[in-house]
Amino acid sequence: DTLTDAFNRRAFAEFAAIEWARSVRLACPLSILAVDIDHFKTFNDRHGHLTGDRALVQVSKSAQAALRANDIWCRYGGEEFVALLPNTNATQAQAIAERLRQTVESTAITGSDASGPLTVTISVGAAERLASHTGVAEVLALADAALYKAKAAGRNQVIIHTPTASESGVLM
Ligand code: GH3
Ligand code: MG
Ligand code: MG
Repeated sequence: DTLTDAFNRRAFAEFAAIEWARSVRLACPLSILAVDIDHFKTFNDRHGHLTGDRALVQVSKSAQAALRANDIWCRYGGEEFVALLPNTNATQAQAIAERLRQTVESTAITGSDASGPLTVTISVGAAERLASHTGVAEVLALADAALYKAKAAGRNQVIIHTPTASESGVLM
């Protein structure tokens, strides 16, 4: 991605397909986080689009730094990001998502002419790959649905997808 240096969507799709195949072959866990900056339209309206751009860059960088080297961090579009976490189950994904949330919350956005330090918050939805899932898109959709719940529940929080009875919990 040209603004943030995160992977763009196309690069993400390539790496995600590789990680997906590895995860299925080795029967190891894989989780996805869907991340969206809270009330970012208001932030832009208040502080201007250039400061908004800087916020995107700095939030992306500090979030990526809070992840592990093998995790794949992608700007999915606008103020939405996706993290693909190899070898990570739902419980671990929740802990990582919470760390990400706290990291962003405490990241001061520099370079603005505002009097005090600016910050933004993120909402995060998380989902783990289960044996019944057919591909990255399915897990991402579940993470997105959890993200939507985090927004509805008041933002600046993490919600993890709860598998339904029709989703198989056995990795294969
Ligand atoms: P919510 O908490 O529900 O996510 O509210 P929101 O305002 O973040 O959501 P909404 O989708 O209404 O607005 C997204 C905003 O993100 C609007 C758009 O101006 C801003 N945005 C998207 N891409 C960029 C960008 O590249 N730079 C800047 N500065 N702003 C961007
Ligand atoms: Mg959005
Ligand atoms: Mg948003």
